[in-house]
Amino acid sequence: MDGFRFRCYPTEAQAQTLRQWIGCQRFIYNAKVGEDRYFRRFAKSALQLTGTPIPIDQCYAQFKTEQTPFLAEVPGVILRNGAVRWKQAYGRYFAGLGGRPTIKTRHGRQSVWITRELFELEPIEDAPRAYRLRIGTRKFPVGELAFTAHRDFEPPASLHISLEAGRWHVSFSNETATEILSEKAIAERLQQLPIEQLEAATLGLDRGVATPVMTSDGQRIVASPVQQQRLAQKERRRKRWQRKLARRCKGGKNRAKAREQVARTYRYASDVRRDLAHKAARILVDEPRHQVYALEALQVQQMTKRAKAKPDPERPGHYLPNNAKAKSGLNKSILASGWGQFKTILRNKAARAGKLVVEVPAAYSSQECARCGHIHPDNRPSQARFVCQACGHQAHADINAAQVIAARGARWVADGHVVAKPKKRCALRRTTVGPGEAEPAGFTPRTPVENAIRRCRGNTSAHRSMKQEPPATSQRLSR
Ligand SMILES: [Zn+2]
Repeated sequence: MDGFRFRCYPTEAQAQTLRQWIGCQRFIYNAKVGEDRYFRRFAKSALQLTGTPIPIDQCYAQFKTEQTPFLAEVPGVILRNGAVRWKQAYGRYFAGLGGRPTIKTRHGRQSVWITRELFELEPIEDAPRAYRLRIGTRKFPVGELAFTAHRDFEPPASLHISLEAGRWHVSFSNETATEILSEKAIAERLQQLPIEQLEAATLGLDRGVATPVMTSDGQRIVASPVQQQRLAQKERRRKRWQRKLARRCKGGKNRAKAREQVARTYRYASDVRRDLAHKAARILVDEPRHQVYALEALQVQQMTKRAKAKPDPERPGHYLPNNAKAKSGLNKSILASGWGQFKTILRNKAARAGKLVVEVPAAYSSQECARCGHIHPDNRPSQARFVCQACGHQAHADINAAQVIAARGARWVADGHVVAKPKKRCALRRTTVGPGEAEPAGFTPRTPVENAIRRCRGNTSAHRSMKQEPPATSQRLSR
């Protein structure tokens, strides 16, 4: 799959309508979540004996009532797509890819999924890669939204329009046109090479806090001085707005404004990280000498845990100082250097170029000598310097570590450690999950009796549905 995301600039009126669409789609999604929770709770306590399944369907008509007149102001397709999104989320849960769908909040990134009925895409003449996106129906027109693509793409069948920290984007995904070799196939090809050749073709990457990434041939991947200066400036700005945010009244307009300002500073930092990761990975992958990129396997989540509290043995209930502040500062800089994102981006670009990214055990990579393999803490007289106590090899500590990682990576590939991860897939199921039907392989219902009730349409009380068959709809559900 190829993902695409392009910036777009709706007018204020268009933005207003899109926000309305987003809100209504979210409303339906959340209503489905609420309905499902209600059914499951109810099934647990009372209705287990009716023997009919909990509906996992795309019905949304029951939410269009007198209390929700706003739902009539958007195209029905928007509402249906909300229900479909919920069902797809449930599909991912059944495939073991995530938890049950939960309530979507109105904070953070917001998006609306629109399908072919609602948009037309046409290229603008005389303007390369510029497109006109006509959105809406005859009854609910939104108008034309122009955007410029930064790379070529196939026209999609559906797309997302999203709003995050004041920016609008059009995004969609497509089947990839070019064939991508699997990691296993690439590894098998590289295994044939003699070890010296493999070592020469392997680039080691050491991830650190001071320098986000250092390569074994001495390239340093850091933000540009201008970016670093702006990051520091935004950091100060964020602190100021965070203080304002804390003082402002909950639910108020000014608080929302302060929150927007804080979000913008975070957005800049994440933009810089992503930009840097993409550009650096592109440069590394385009270098023809390198076939393998070796990284240490880091447990970023484990590494960035909070400092543990130290109980005072003499005074129960009291605690000793544990440098919590220093640890959270370190955690912040680890997360700020974006290691995980860099790995993902490098891996994707490498796969497209028929190259390999491997992760090797990280233990002692900073204390091992790249020339003779001697491991000792004394090899690191300071943060930046490496002096081997056995052979006298001297180097920059990060470059030495990257060279150690490169050597480990080459051995890792030669020994055939690269195994393809099984790909998790999920598909939409057209039927409801019931006791009489085959369930997806590997799926065990978390609550043993959760498959035992039926929805009744409109205002019919659930009580009545226990006594009698509801009309017509039951046919569709029990089929
Ligand atoms: Zn040595």
